[in-house]
Amino acid sequence: MEREHLIKPVLDHPYPTVQYGKGVFLYDDQGKAYLDGASGAVTAGIGHGVPEIIEAMTEQASKVSFVYRSQFTSEPAEKLAKKLSDLEPGGDYWAFFVNSGSEATETAMKIAIQHWQEKGRFGKNKVISRRMSYHGITMGALSMSGHVLRRRRFIPLLEDFPVVAPPYCYRCPFKLNAASCKLACADDLETAIKRIGAEHIAAFIAEPIVGAAGGAIVPPEGYYKRIKEICDRHEILFIADEVMTGIARTGEMFGMQHDGVEPDLIALGKGLSAGYTPMAATLVKDHVMAPILQGSKSIMAGHTYSANPQSAAVSLAVLDYIEKHQLAQAAQSRGVYLMAKLRQLADGIEIIGDVRGRGLLLGIEFVRNRDDKEMFPPAAGITARIIDKAFHKGLLVYPAAGAVDGAGDAIIVAPPLVITEAEIDL
Ligand code: PLP
Repeated sequence: MEREHLIKPVLDHPYPTVQYGKGVFLYDDQGKAYLDGASGAVTAGIGHGVPEIIEAMTEQASKVSFVYRSQFTSEPAEKLAKKLSDLEPGGDYWAFFVNSGSEATETAMKIAIQHWQEKGRFGKNKVISRRMSYHGITMGALSMSGHVLRRRRFIPLLEDFPVVAPPYCYRCPFKLNAASCKLACADDLETAIKRIGAEHIAAFIAEPIVGAAGGAIVPPEGYYKRIKEICDRHEILFIADEVMTGIARTGEMFGMQHDGVEPDLIALGKGLSAGYTPMAATLVKDHVMAPILQGSKSIMAGHTYSANPQSAAVSLAVLDYIEKHQLAQAAQSRGVYLMAKLRQLADGIEIIGDVRGRGLLLGIEFVRNRDDKEMFPPAAGITARIIDKAFHKGLLVYPAAGAVDGAGDAIIVAPPLVITEAEIDL
């Protein structure tokens, strides 16, 4: 056998070679079809091979693909920034474009810290996050992530940022139930702030719905309103990591709209370009930008490919497509349909403990025993085995944490928002 050169996620795993994609299906070079039940990594939101996107890509490429952001602005980048602000109900956001979700959250962290520096408050440079969270793989983003498996090797290099309890109702960290809850998990933020001192804290970051570190965990009603109120009272910026939940995935353009909360900063990625090209963004509210505009007038972050016109044109075309085909509404209605089907399925499968989520971001948690929610031991590798079985049957689903840091074995089911009921039945 010829020696290999490409470093793949698991080096001795035999990955099939993809040939092409169409709609919700991917096809390998042996002609096998795979239903893309997780949009890759919750990314291919409008499905594969959409002609309108390919046309927009080609048209922009025929004009100019790349300019460096310190030399030129471009029409697609300007339009995309305005469009994203218009889509948010508050509508007063600036956009800083990057290339991945990790860069978007890390940039949000840097902007939050810079915001306080420009106000002369140099001590406010910690970011609080939650256990069971994932904000990205670069060092700053990983410092804010409560994902034990992904952190483990790099702990000496990571910032020791404080963490608070996740809003994980299925296994409440405070052993409370719906009647006794009183949002203790949200109040845990206030406890942490009082312990550390608000004068040391720049921001709090959280995913509207916990994705990779838990499997579509939706917080209890009122959680984010309480969180925002606590942040505001202590002069702490709230960063919503909408990398997975943003761009219509949950049935609204932004996941936080369900909670009626306007974050100070928003990280976007994945669905923003629906996988057609790398693209991500940090949205920053006017009041966060204000001291920077009056002060240094420059955000100390950025990457060579930031705001390249090619990716901006693609993202604009993706947003147009989502609006034209009303895919936020589709995510809502098809999400209800898929959830009902998964719950039916769960009735007959003993190891399904919980089916949850919102819109087309759904999660299934597996348990050894449904009655006492006993977890499988990590060594059983349940999540990996289920994903592998599904893969061989031609169904792609996405792994969530898998018995680390208090999280159970879980998968994410999040097909492209264009999926039909017949495809869901399949
Ligand atoms: N934030 C969230 C909520 C994510 O789910 C992810 C990726 O899964 C990231 C950040 C990191 O994004 P990327 O893998 O594009 O760097």
